Amino acid sequence: MDSARVLNYINNEWTDAGADETGPVVNPATGEAIAEVVLTAPDGVGRAVEAGERAFAEWRETPVVERVQPLYRLKMLLEEHLDEIAATITDECGKTLAESAGEVRRGIENVEVACGMPTLIQGYSNEDIARGIDEQMIRQPLGVVTAITPFNFPAMIPLWFLPYAVATGNCFILKPSERVPMTAVKLFELIEQAGFPKGVVQLVNGAAQTVDALLDHPGIRAVSFVGSTPVARYIYGRATANGKRAQCQGGAKNPVIIMPDADQETTTRIMADSAFGCAGQRCLAASVAVIVGEARGRFAESIGEAAAGRRVGYGREDGVEMGPVISPESRARIEQLVAAGEGEGAKLIADGRGRAVSGYEDGNWVFPTVLDRVPPEGEIAKTEIFGPVLSLMHAETLEEAIGLVNARTYGNMACIFTSSGASARKFRHEADAGNVGINVAVAAPMAFFPFSGWNESFFGDLHAQGRHGVEFYTQTKVVVERWPREWSRKF
Ligand code: NAD
Repeated sequence: MDSARVLNYINNEWTDAGADETGPVVNPATGEAIAEVVLTAPDGVGRAVEAGERAFAEWRETPVVERVQPLYRLKMLLEEHLDEIAATITDECGKTLAESAGEVRRGIENVEVACGMPTLIQGYSNEDIARGIDEQMIRQPLGVVTAITPFNFPAMIPLWFLPYAVATGNCFILKPSERVPMTAVKLFELIEQAGFPKGVVQLVNGAAQTVDALLDHPGIRAVSFVGSTPVARYIYGRATANGKRAQCQGGAKNPVIIMPDADQETTTRIMADSAFGCAGQRCLAASVAVIVGEARGRFAESIGEAAAGRRVGYGREDGVEMGPVISPESRARIEQLVAAGEGEGAKLIADGRGRAVSGYEDGNWVFPTVLDRVPPEGEIAKTEIFGPVLSLMHAETLEEAIGLVNARTYGNMACIFTSSGASARKFRHEADAGNVGINVAVAAPMAFFPFSGWNESFFGDLHAQGRHGVEFYTQTKVVVERWPREWSRKF
């Protein structure tokens, strides 16, 4: 692919907005630079916010049934161009084509749900709260809102926010990860065809400086963020200190309990997909397996075999089950954390360090890795590795296993594999996490449910997707009206 310049989409025009700095976009499987992305300065951010403010005056007056029409068109365009978007994700993010297509599909679901906004945005009302007095609650949009998104789902995560924000009557600015900006360009080429009025949906590229300009601009009313916990905490603090609404999703360390009565074959297959799929760079990846009682030996052996048998390579090639990690720095960090785990006393069942894929020696390869007997009190048990590394811990009872699950500071996801309804029910009730899986190891909520992280995995109260998205992007207005019956007799 020729080197390309990734631009902003401001007021329905492709522009660098005066940015004189750029950053490289690199294919993580080949190590090749495939594009340069503009890093927008505060002035360029200001231009986008002003265009959004101008557009808002008319967009908020547009009936919701009309506001969803460009989203219906966007849904069809996304379907038509799904393979093309998936190929772009694979090139800049490293996933397999099947994984990339899967994330686009999950993104499209959110567009579909937001098309139901005429119903979702409804308020409620009471007639006669006192004689001749009625009360109603209506929802109104906020103004210009923004989402700042991570590298690992370049199509799906922007679509967790964009459709709800615009269908509720806001104007929306996306700031994608500077490591994977080309997918957003594909989305915005379709947004351009879908026919949104000028300034309603905009794209501003950049890194930390661009984010700070968005966080400090008085015209931005709400901030949605997905990324690592330190940045989520920072963005939540700065956005709310500036009087903005914020919903900030952070990192994860997702534990999965494996009971002795779990179906061995199914559990191993699903766990391998969760831990090693997307090279472990999913915020809902299983990263710790807490194996209970006699499941211990069996599972350690079968997951070791699954790790060794997984086909790693360039995601565009047939039969490849796992791609590279995002960057050389990421690879180095993962390898160091595996070494630190060994230093804490863990035993390697599968070691994916120091490997390469033939023909792609410059890729950021980490093969599936399994660390056994990870000490629960150690650093590795707590640290987000964000790579294809599964840590195994052991417990004698379900109570002990739940104790290990709840000892974590994150709370994005927790799962259990069991054939006992009683064990599943106890776990569902007691697990200290916002997304819970039962015989499922990537408990990703559908678009019509909130993506419900807890603890250090989330700062805020209203989550992404579904009705939470509608509430986040609207302010409630409560109206009390007095219309005494006798006044109607005057005419
Ligand atoms: P990241 O935090 O490095 O970057 C996320 C976004 O923040 C990017 O757009 C980046 O430009 C911006 N950013 C980075 N540093 C910044 C700073 N100092 N100031 C202002 N903005 C800054 O995250 P990443 O590496 O792109 O993504 C991986 C992380 O995201 C993992 O921790 C993963 O668990 C998490 N994640 C969480 C969820 C979830 O739903 N909770 C989903 C996906 C990813």
